[in-house]
Amino acid sequence: ALLMLAVAPRRTERVERVAVLMDTPVRVVVYGPPNAADAAIDEISRLEGLWHPGRAESDVARVNAAAGLEAVKVAPETLDLAERALAVASLTDGAFDPTIGPLVLAWGFGGGENRVPSSASREAARGLVGYQDLKVDRAAGTLFLARPGMVLDLGAVAKGYSAESIRSLLMGRGVKSALVQLGGSVALLGRRPGGEGGRWQVAVQHPRNPEGFLAGLSLAEGFVDTAGDYQRFFERDGVRYHHILDPATGEPARGLASVTVIAPRGDQADAYATAAFVMGMERGYAFLAGQPGIEAILVSTSGEVRLTPGLAGKVDVQVQPWP
Ligand code: AMP
Ligand code: MG
Repeated sequence: ALLMLAVAPRRTERVERVAVLMDTPVRVVVYGPPNAADAAIDEISRLEGLWHPGRAESDVARVNAAAGLEAVKVAPETLDLAERALAVASLTDGAFDPTIGPLVLAWGFGGGENRVPSSASREAARGLVGYQDLKVDRAAGTLFLARPGMVLDLGAVAKGYSAESIRSLLMGRGVKSALVQLGGSVALLGRRPGGEGGRWQVAVQHPRNPEGFLAGLSLAEGFVDTAGDYQRFFERDGVRYHHILDPATGEPARGLASVTVIAPRGDQADAYATAAFVMGMERGYAFLAGQPGIEAILVSTSGEVRLTPGLAGKVDVQVQPWP
């Protein structure tokens, strides 16, 4: 019996940790040492401390407080995140804009009361959005918002970026299989033990049924991210107002209910999902289908579902019932 114990392969333990960080439910599933999962949660908490706009000492809060005044020294991760956000902003002609903050505040999505802003305050906020005025100085290690009143908001890319950082952290600790989820951002590492072909099952939420799934994805490692109009919204006079804002109109982007992106990078999956959501079905689909290594599921507010060619026949889509 002793001999058998000695030669039996050590079972990999499944460890799961949950938390609420970055204003969203966080889940880390690690097949490996429990302290790896704990280290992952600690690291997400540290990144939240850098990027949460509501924390006075965070990089984002300090950059915002110095808008129009001076450049602010930030962590290398913050510089990196801002540069990636700016790259997507120029790639999408500003449909994605990390200086969307004044509009987010005008609609009350930055905490506090949600409201439909007057057209005057909406236009004033829109005038303060402009990624060209976010200056990154690599050499000095600083970020600068060039005009007073500008507000940095990395909320559409930070979770996907973090999911990838955590995946790297776990790899560095010798973890072979893991799933990291921050709200709609998911990172998959290695083969899922017991999964068919080592694949992971990721469900895409039905945009109009909180308990239902719209699609089931069977994925190898990588990143998947969903932007949806059901994640944060309020209703006034029968109209849904949600948190993904179109910098061109100052209003919640219209036309799509959700966009799911599968990408080789976490920040990309997150930013592209939000960007395509803003662009709407036609432009959003064309944009995503034109990006190398990207697959996507776009769902319109009327229930139309479009898949990029690489996904056709690979996903099981259930749109019914659609209100
Ligand atoms: P996500 O859930 O990744 O789609 O990100 C949505 C969050 O990103 C919002 O809560 C805002 O903080 C921010 N956001 C809203 N609209 C935009 C936009 N057009 N470009 C970049 N960030 C945005
Ligand atoms: Mg996003």
